[in-house]
Amino acid sequence: MSTVPDRLLILWHFAVTRWLPSPGSRLRERRLRRFLRRVKTESPFYRGVERDLPILTKTEFLANFEALNRFGITLEEATEVALRAERNRDFRPELPGGITVGMSSGTSGTRHVFLVSRGERCRWAGEMLGRMLSKESLRQILNPLAPPLRIAFFLRASSNLYTTLGSRRVEFEFYDLTRPFADLMSDLEVKPPDVLIAPATVLAGIAGARPAIRPRQVISVAEVLDDRDREMVENVFEVRVDEVYQATEGFLGCSCREGRLHLNEESLRVEPQWVDRESGRFHPVITDFSRRTQWFVRHRLTDVLRIDPTPCPCGRKTTTLLSVEGRSEEVLWLPNSHGDLAPLYPDVVRQVVYSLGDPPDHYRIEQKGMCWMVHLSGGDPEEVTAALIGLAERSGLSSPEVILLPWSDQPVSEKQKRIRCLEKPA
Ligand SMILES: [Zn+2]
Repeated sequence: MSTVPDRLLILWHFAVTRWLPSPGSRLRERRLRRFLRRVKTESPFYRGVERDLPILTKTEFLANFEALNRFGITLEEATEVALRAERNRDFRPELPGGITVGMSSGTSGTRHVFLVSRGERCRWAGEMLGRMLSKESLRQILNPLAPPLRIAFFLRASSNLYTTLGSRRVEFEFYDLTRPFADLMSDLEVKPPDVLIAPATVLAGIAGARPAIRPRQVISVAEVLDDRDREMVENVFEVRVDEVYQATEGFLGCSCREGRLHLNEESLRVEPQWVDRESGRFHPVITDFSRRTQWFVRHRLTDVLRIDPTPCPCGRKTTTLLSVEGRSEEVLWLPNSHGDLAPLYPDVVRQVVYSLGDPPDHYRIEQKGMCWMVHLSGGDPEEVTAALIGLAERSGLSSPEVILLPWSDQPVSEKQKRIRCLEKPA
């Protein structure tokens, strides 16, 4: 497989996803069984486990990181590579074997490092494009006389995972969210995209800035798009916002042409762990039988999904969701040099905290006007303060007044948010 060029691999997965009928339940079941059989012989973690494999939480998964990847890469090694890439803003370094380390910081508060191979990267790119590109976008790629399809991707960090998408017919622009937002907006107008991809809250920010662009497709990734943001973005760009539901655990779902969110059950088994059966709310326990570098087997996510019991008219037979709950009051606001409020997105703030040499065990940032009340447990308080003020400066914004407070648990009745804006500055 390593001799097949990336582009062919991507094209292959694109074609399979786009044009082949989705595998039926029997075929999926067979693939799953074969995958599990293999896992039991290949992974030191599962060797000798005869019956049902255990359900793992993220913490348990990370604690057994080394035994849950094919190359025995330790969490420390992977974290080291990921942090170096973040610090240098250079996302090319790979581990031996062409393995890429990605890092994401989930709302659950832990730093998530994940490993993907070249093949998996290509598969991700192919499937993503196969599922998400509209007919018009595809026509543009296939027409050699048309300009290449330009995709703008807003993310807090790039990675080999995303740059895999670039080719002669697809121009991929990466927008680094740690740069000042106004600069990003002017760059966006210089190279207006056909497809705009960004985390939900960032999409709302872009729409709010009203740049002179007319994307044909707008895709929300990584966070939950709330209804207010959706309406605003759709009004500004006059297109429907599609969603990709993705986590460290992989490509979990995306919206179809009917605008409904489907779980990616072509390559995932999703077992519901019911929170409330009547309303259809559950925690997904996922097994990804397309991943070979790391084994995600019966992995329990903290997200709460809500099932849509009615069949989708698009014809895809996978489970559809009414919503993904539990991850936009998370955006912090500070004035820029003109005195206008500008957003700092939770992804960026989380990343800054987790990239510290001595990150806190627990933290919570609550904004009230220009005050950021930072509750800390562990870590170096001075380092945290300096990092947050540094972030504001780098983003061209006034520094907040950071007030350090001892850690206290949040009342259970409240949404458990690490980052929250209670009151914007006046
Ligand atoms: Zn559908």
